[in-house]
Amino acid sequence: MNQWYLTTPERESLLAFLRKLVQTPSLSGEEGAVAALVMEEMRRLGFVEVWMDEAGNVVGALGAAEGPTLLLDSHMDTVGVPDLSHWTRAPWGAEVRNGRLYGVGSCDMKGGLAATLYGAAHLQRLGIPLRGRVLVAVVGLEEPAEGTGTRILFEEDGLEADWVVIAEPSNLQVVRGQRGHMEMGLALQGRSAHSATPELGENAIYAAARVIFGLEILAEQLAVDSFLGAGVLAVTDIRSQAVSRNAIPELCEIIIDRRLIVGETETSALAEVQRVIAREGIQAQLRVIEEDVRTHTGKTYRARRASPSWVFGEQHPLIVAMLQSAREVGLRPTLEYWNFATEGAYTAGVAQIPTVGFGPGDPALAHTGDEHVELEQVYTAAAAYAALAARLLRE
Ligand SMILES: [Zn+2]
Repeated sequence: MNQWYLTTPERESLLAFLRKLVQTPSLSGEEGAVAALVMEEMRRLGFVEVWMDEAGNVVGALGAAEGPTLLLDSHMDTVGVPDLSHWTRAPWGAEVRNGRLYGVGSCDMKGGLAATLYGAAHLQRLGIPLRGRVLVAVVGLEEPAEGTGTRILFEEDGLEADWVVIAEPSNLQVVRGQRGHMEMGLALQGRSAHSATPELGENAIYAAARVIFGLEILAEQLAVDSFLGAGVLAVTDIRSQAVSRNAIPELCEIIIDRRLIVGETETSALAEVQRVIAREGIQAQLRVIEEDVRTHTGKTYRARRASPSWVFGEQHPLIVAMLQSAREVGLRPTLEYWNFATEGAYTAGVAQIPTVGFGPGDPALAHTGDEHVELEQVYTAAAAYAALAARLLRE
């Protein structure tokens, strides 16, 4: 045992809190009840300041009022349960069996969320004098619009941070980068005609088929990064429009999901697709998808579905500090990357604040039936957050 480990009463209290979190549904844009629970728990744990911003993000502060700031970042929204047949446990039951807690969001990422509150509170309880502060931020709308909640914290609320930990599931490995993410819409224009005389029109579906074939070939040829692997392109949706079943379709729209590696940008990814369109000599409009998202407080934000990749070097001081802190609590972490997007898309990808990923739970269990998290991992993550905060902020 060392000083970073949670005590038995802390573990029991964390478990009770985590069960309440999982038992309280929090679909994106409907996080109000969970936000209230988080605020109540922060106050109970003795956070010095607790507030909610206009977008419904919750922040709690501990430590000194000024000085360098460590931000522990998580999201409180979860995906829904479209098909109950994938579940053998009650999705909102928060059942505990063999040291695992089951339920929607247990792994992605209410386990990590609970660990950030308890790690920060544990550090405060140890009474170590700090030269800076720990902010625990819990944002909404991550699932439909990653990075939006955290962008609001920085760009609208004026929050500042010197280091960020993203507490998304990493199986307690240290994550030093993630792929970027883009969603593109490609509208192919045809010309309507009666389907008995197709030669009088231009079939938008045929045009789409040619472009899709080109995209399939492009997807095989994308650049490869030694750490983040290959870039990814996938056509994920298609729909067409015709005046009737007996008409040549005048419009076909396809959706392209793109995962970016280092060196690939929004501009370069768009240009690659444009080249495929040009080669086919087809009329088409390509755009990055933008859509409105609504917070649980009723505010609407424009979310642009494009976020850059990010990677910090193995020797970056924050990466080293996270590795050392994880070792201090008995782990032997390796350096990993996330192949999905997180709030780090904003903190590292846009704001370029040193960011590291570290959290309880197996990322492969996110968005799956019988999603669960190992409780021991949640407790250990809390200990590691306390150790990291002390390492960065001790006087
Ligand atoms: Zn997540």
